[in-house]
Amino acid sequence: MNYNFPVTKTDNPKAKPNPDTLKFGAVFTDHMFIMEYTEGKGWHDGKIVPYGPLALEPATVVFHYAQEMFEGLKAYKTSEGKVLLFRPDMNAKRTNSTNERMCIPQLDEELFVEAVKAVVNVDKDWIPEKEGTSLYIRPFIIADEPFLGVRASNHYLFIVILCPVGPYYAGGLTPTKLLVEDEYVRAVPGGTGFAKVGGNYAAALKAQEKAHSKGCEQVLWLDGVERKYVEEIGTSNAFFKIDGEIVTAPLGGTILPGITRNSVIALLEKWGYKVSQKRLSIDDVFAAGKSGKLNEVFATGTAAVISPVGELTWKDQKIAINNGEIGELSQKLYDELYGIQTGKLEDTMGWTTEV
Ligand SMILES: *Cc1c(COP(=O)(O)O)cnc(C)c1O
Repeated sequence: MNYNFPVTKTDNPKAKPNPDTLKFGAVFTDHMFIMEYTEGKGWHDGKIVPYGPLALEPATVVFHYAQEMFEGLKAYKTSEGKVLLFRPDMNAKRTNSTNERMCIPQLDEELFVEAVKAVVNVDKDWIPEKEGTSLYIRPFIIADEPFLGVRASNHYLFIVILCPVGPYYAGGLTPTKLLVEDEYVRAVPGGTGFAKVGGNYAAALKAQEKAHSKGCEQVLWLDGVERKYVEEIGTSNAFFKIDGEIVTAPLGGTILPGITRNSVIALLEKWGYKVSQKRLSIDDVFAAGKSGKLNEVFATGTAAVISPVGELTWKDQKIAINNGEIGELSQKLYDELYGIQTGKLEDTMGWTTEV
């Protein structure tokens, strides 16, 4: 299919932000992609327009019943000026798996990728080039029918917005402190834990605030049934290196199938490490920590790529990991992934796509 989305350019281009002080998700580019879905007609009228407010009735479904989904990926500019996306086909696939769970209509996967490329191309001058910066891409779908009855909407908007972002950690890969959450839960079997939806995030804010109040940056989530097995770190996937073996939770419906997670597993297997996708109890993590066998803990996700963990707090117990310093494997994975994403290293996995 050849998509040709009409472009309406802004009359008032904004000043580009200072690349030295970029934060995450605070500044948006000049344009956005927007497409409608109408029952009986399908997805239609995809176009690129100036970035700006949406006019929605107060009765709009998404405001009341949260029928929506989102995605996240990044574009990087290489030293030769090429624009690279990292595995956008995976975001397109995950969109449809989320949509299926949320009763949102399926979206052609090629259309998803072409829409992302088209809007990134229009705003490519916004991609910052300083080390550690990138253009964060936020595709999302909202149910925008004005209707207060409870059923799936008959009208949707698919929108893609862009924001130039700085390095996730200003001072390099600084290890974080995690609070093991044993009161609130993120996901349960049969729920929406595997889907990328705002409702999961709203329900997790309370635990995040609790972690902050105890001096921790993030939450380490346990499973929602037994509060026993480690699942995710905040809004990232979790990896544990214990006695040389790397363990991450299996994708069983309560774990978000991270694209970074998938890429880390592929690299580790290629490098010959033992990687297991299996349930791991928090007791085993603390036992390994106390006997000196907990080598590394790290989180994976698009925003930070790899985020090392330096300390875990669980009830009244605290353990330091790798003396609170970044582990060798975390650093190696970060360097490899970031190198591929930015075109500094050869993409032997075939993961990048040029815009
Ligand atoms: C997006 C997300 C991740 C990470 O997924 P990536 O595709 O690697 O960015 C992990 N956990 C949750 C809950 C998420 O929403």
